Amino acid sequence: MTASSTPRVVSCPCCGKPVEWGPVNAWRPFCSERCKLIDLGAWATERYRVPVTEEKDELETRDPDATS
Ligand SMILES: [Zn+2]
Repeated sequence: MTASSTPRVVSCPCCGKPVEWGPVNAWRPFCSERCKLIDLGAWATERYRVPVTEEKDELETRDPDATS
């Protein structure tokens, strides 16, 4: 292996930890799966902020053969 290749290091967008950017890091640019999930989760909640209204359909007369 050549010693000229310097590992590229980036900062984890979630926690700021230095992360080696390479095939060894499956979670790049995050430092770990946890940080990736946290960031994606925050993004998702920001984007898909919808009012939760649970309307439960009363079990009316339905197809008796329908088994769910
Ligand atoms: Zn992190």
